[in-house]
Amino acid sequence: MNKNEKIALLTKKHVAQTYGRYPIALVRGKGTKVWDKAGKQYLDFVSGLAVDNLGHCHPAVVSAIQNQAENLLHVSNLYHIEPQSQLAERLTSLCFADKIFFCNSGTEAIESAIKLARKFSFDQGHPERNEIITMHNSFHGRTLGALSATAQKKFHHGFQPLLPGFKYVPFNNIQAVKKAINKKTCAVLVEPIQGEGGVNVPDPSYFKNLKSLCKKNDLLLIFDEVQTGFGRTGKLFAHEIFKTKPDIMTLAKALGGGVAIGALAATNRVMKSFVPGTHAATFGGNPLACAAALATLKVITGKDFLKKASETGVFFQKCLQKLAKQHPIIKEVRGKGMILALELKKPGGDVVLDCMENGFLINCIQQNILRFLPPLNISKKDINSLMPVLSNSLLQLSKKKS
Ligand SMILES: *Cc1c(COP(=O)(O)O)cnc(C)c1O
Repeated sequence: MNKNEKIALLTKKHVAQTYGRYPIALVRGKGTKVWDKAGKQYLDFVSGLAVDNLGHCHPAVVSAIQNQAENLLHVSNLYHIEPQSQLAERLTSLCFADKIFFCNSGTEAIESAIKLARKFSFDQGHPERNEIITMHNSFHGRTLGALSATAQKKFHHGFQPLLPGFKYVPFNNIQAVKKAINKKTCAVLVEPIQGEGGVNVPDPSYFKNLKSLCKKNDLLLIFDEVQTGFGRTGKLFAHEIFKTKPDIMTLAKALGGGVAIGALAATNRVMKSFVPGTHAATFGGNPLACAAALATLKVITGKDFLKKASETGVFFQKCLQKLAKQHPIIKEVRGKGMILALELKKPGGDVVLDCMENGFLINCIQQNILRFLPPLNISKKDINSLMPVLSNSLLQLSKKKS
């Protein structure tokens, strides 16, 4: 038994089997590289699923965590917390929002957004307006509220009854939203670019039209930027690409540079519906997570970081397009910045295994879509090194009888 298999055995015996796991245990990371228990090295194009945007163990984040850990790990939100107030100030200076509510994950940020939208309507004298429109192929999380907002049947299976108050329409279809609005609608919840649903990028005009539709009908526009936030698309937030500001935004994944943290950002007009006693999270905005997030934000918003990431993203996409010209098995190249995908005409699971064998971690979603989410500071050389491996693997896949 090798060292990875030993860990795999423990997982299999004692950890809930909610994940289909690959047969390696990652024990160390530095920059774009990770190592498994047997010492094998991999280039990481998964980044903990859009979490490690600065790569693994970025020195600025590690040092901020070390310093904070020596001073204060946790105190209650009954008191003011210095790194939390500083992080809120920083976040609001970087986007449309005036105030932040802190939690611990993406799904919790979504729960907070659902509650805030309902409470806002209630406070406006419209308790009957409690429905939220969401999009087919969306992904908003696994807790029951966020799961109910997620319009993908496969995630609902076995967990009914879901939370009432959601209406699903096709993504990137403004007429469908128009038709779905009724007297009970209070908000529209949407990812600027759908991540888990297939790296789907909407038409350039979609969000401008959606915003005017929301304004006309007095609806809140909620952007789920849990996956697209913090430079993933080449902009700090993906909605900057579409030049459309929401009323509410959910954040998590990359915010803490690898430490669990979630956040809800909103305008004063909306956030004033959250008053003492309406919502809370024990760990929300704890000193450790906030210190890590402050350090992460400092690097991401540093001079030329996003400009460089955006350029690297264009380079990466060009590489994938070149590959698509050589491989008819590729149906489409999609994405923006450093959230990129290859839609294949066949299931892509074997390509992931093949790349892993060759020292590259990539991800497959919706069975036939290869998703690439490398650290934003990855080099062109690292990207180049993946291409022949991917090419060879796609060739093998196209030869395989399905
Ligand atoms: C990952 C994700 C979530 C859920 O985040 P968790 O931290 O796993 O709860 C919500 N929305 C989007 C867009 C995501 O990609």
